[in-house]
Amino acid sequence: MSTSNTAKSLAAGNWKMNGLKASFEELEDLAVALASDAKPSCGVLICPPFTLVASFAEKLVGTGILIGAQDCHENASGAHTGDISTAMLADAGASHVIVGHSERRADHGEDDVTVQAKATAVMGEGLVAIICAGETEGERDAGGAVSVVTGQMDGSIPDSATPDTVIIAYEPVWAIGTGRTPTVGDVEEMHSAMRANLVARFGDSGNGFSLLYGGSVKPSNASELMGAANVNGALVGGASLKASDFNGIIDAYR
Ligand code: PEP
Repeated sequence: MSTSNTAKSLAAGNWKMNGLKASFEELEDLAVALASDAKPSCGVLICPPFTLVASFAEKLVGTGILIGAQDCHENASGAHTGDISTAMLADAGASHVIVGHSERRADHGEDDVTVQAKATAVMGEGLVAIICAGETEGERDAGGAVSVVTGQMDGSIPDSATPDTVIIAYEPVWAIGTGRTPTVGDVEEMHSAMRANLVARFGDSGNGFSLLYGGSVKPSNASELMGAANVNGALVGGASLKASDFNGIIDAYR
């Protein structure tokens, strides 16, 4: 495990557009594993679709599994058909909200200004924003990965962010759902640049922000990736859908 900073560790699952009421079985199994296996040194968070946030949050009280959301609207209320506000998410029992995931940036045209506004709304509701940043394969091949990611951080992280209210997830777009991952050296280079960016902007408290790695994390590579310097946990898509896989990733923190 990385111990090169003061940040808290987190294993976060992003279920994306997957999951029905019956999928709660997986979280029951995960709760059993968390109660019976050695206690991990990380927090555990699952972000299901909006439809499941309230019921899952209610059922999981006391299990150590937190429930979050995958997106929100930046406004508090109003004429925004189909959107969800941070007050609604807090009311439903969410503790965290992912903002700026690359699928939102690509599929819904969300730019850094929008992501920053969403993060501000999340913080305003007393929830934690997980702000995603990551380069495309073309940007990496062109040698621009670090500047793309730190540029997204500059544009997406609110000035009012603190380690208690914002987590940053590095998710290379080309590693999401592909089974491909950067080398540990590439992850360390990126996370070190992210840490330096935060310290330059926020001073000493920059060392307290949790930096997650996301992109094809699975039980077989979790220990290596989570052991990289300045990596404080994982944002996991596909491998968070099954309790056994996600628990295998959490093993990196046991
Ligand atoms: C994600 O979408 O946040 C993600 C990391 O997906 P996967 O783990 O499936 O690559």
